[in-house]
Amino acid sequence: MKKDDCIFCKIANGEIPSTTIYENEEFRVFFDIAPASKGHCLIVPKDHFNDIFDMDEETGGRLFSLAVKVAGSLKKELNCEGMNIVQNNGTIAGQTVFHFHLHLIPRYTGDTVNVGWKPGEADTEELKALAEAVRKNI
Ligand code: 5GP
Ligand code: ZN
Repeated sequence: MKKDDCIFCKIANGEIPSTTIYENEEFRVFFDIAPASKGHCLIVPKDHFNDIFDMDEETGGRLFSLAVKVAGSLKKELNCEGMNIVQNNGTIAGQTVFHFHLHLIPRYTGDTVNVGWKPGEADTEELKALAEAVRKNI
């Protein structure tokens, strides 16, 4: 399903132009308009999903399978040393476009990309209880 007022629905379905690397029936891969590094691109489904919580497992599986291929091709062509795969869900997590998209961000020595967090602390017993609780819903 498409959403009328969604910019990525329009890009994914070709109504708004993008520099497209690849497309098939279900997905479009295109360069980010404000790249964090050379080769920064996005994989978006042509159907509208707000975020990962809105997406079905099968679509997610096919999308990540495509991501593996695109990542390999980017690495081959750009000679990047590494890559961050980033996917933001919700304003709190930094999502600004509310149509699911996976960022592929090639990494190079001396780049200015900033993807990170401050390492925290965890209580093992608490983690065990949490693991059990979360497992129930999988
Ligand atoms: P988010 O912050 O939601 O994870 O990422 C949204 C991304 O979409 C940003 O990196 C932003 O630069 C990119 N973006 C927003 N609008 C457009 C657009 O019209 N065209 C392209 N190619 N990228 C866009
Ligand atoms: Zn959309």
